[in-house]
Amino acid sequence: MGAELTRRDFLKLCALLGVGAVVTLYSSEIKRVFSQVAEQSGGKIHLIWLNLASDTGCTISMLQASNPDLIEAVEELGISADFWKALMTPDYDLGWVTAGYTQEDLSQVPLFNAAFGNAPVDVLVVEGTPQLGTPRGNTQGYFCTTGKLNGTPVTGYDLLQKLAAKASYVVAVGQCSSFGGIPAASGNLTGAVSVSDALKQASVSTKHQIINLPGCPANPDWTLVTLATVLQGIDPDLDGQGRPKAFFTSYIHDNCPRRDAYNRGQMAKTFDDPVGCFWDLGCKGPITQSSCAITKWNGGTGFCTLAGPMCWGCMHPNFPDPPTSAFYAPVADTATILGVNVDEVGEVAIAGTAGILAVHAIRRSLGKKEGEPEKENATSSEPSSEATH
Ligand code: SF4
Repeated sequence: MGAELTRRDFLKLCALLGVGAVVTLYSSEIKRVFSQVAEQSGGKIHLIWLNLASDTGCTISMLQASNPDLIEAVEELGISADFWKALMTPDYDLGWVTAGYTQEDLSQVPLFNAAFGNAPVDVLVVEGTPQLGTPRGNTQGYFCTTGKLNGTPVTGYDLLQKLAAKASYVVAVGQCSSFGGIPAASGNLTGAVSVSDALKQASVSTKHQIINLPGCPANPDWTLVTLATVLQGIDPDLDGQGRPKAFFTSYIHDNCPRRDAYNRGQMAKTFDDPVGCFWDLGCKGPITQSSCAITKWNGGTGFCTLAGPMCWGCMHPNFPDPPTSAFYAPVADTATILGVNVDEVGEVAIAGTAGILAVHAIRRSLGKKEGEPEKENATSSEPSSEATH
């Protein structure tokens, strides 16, 4: 590897390259960040993964992380997942066994120690939606209750308030915690809201701005890069929705592998079309900002419009309500509502080329040796700025 990344360089890289290049080219540096922070904190980074209303899909997604993978992060890099209910089993140590907890504590003691006791919390990751009550019944309800404290049920919302106030960083992972997602969609019966809205309602302040990593599920590599960033003491550059700009600036439409078909006006009539653009079938790629098409998923092997289905807009703040639904309605009208001119979106891809040039400039400045192989952002084509549809 070339020269070590400084904090400033790391921030620049995340902003300029998009996470794809950062993950691919600098995985060893990302691992180093975790190791350094672990050393500085006396051997462990204390992470609480709080599951609220969701299907636990973001945890499943995290199991697909590859640079580093989750096992490396937990076992080798000094992350102590003091509580991560979905992954805590008697025979697999996520840090809580070595921290001295016994098997019978598995259910809630580490969590309660973090929320109500003296156990440290470096990073609070929230998966799922806080639920504030039942609007129709006008009752608070006891949602996501995890045991009792002094005889009183402790809800997920209670835990969120305590842990968020204590944590150095709060990262909302997934569409549900970032924006409310499916639990907060039209017909919401449980008072489900985003983490940001729930904490605002409870007048709870956090030490740093809450970082939102939407997606259904969230991208595991983006999550680990974000954790590496905050653990370096860097506040990621966030957009107006609290999302790291490094991952949520370009539109999926900019770099979609079907973009050439779009430019040619070759529209798919069915979802098994291997080449055609899914515009007519309701693709929300033109209004959805995320780096899915650049970094891809599952070790960089695929993502929605590459694998077959269209983009459903799961990174979009209102998902799954309009404008991302109705899912099969073409996006043309909703684009106007959002103030996005999809005929101009392709121009962003041209700007992306400038970003790739900047990658080379930064790598040279970091001492990358001449002749070492370069891996660039995986732009799938040479998109034209002239949309023809
Ligand atoms: Fe890709 Fe959808 Fe844009 Fe077509 S409309 S190019 S499938 S993102």
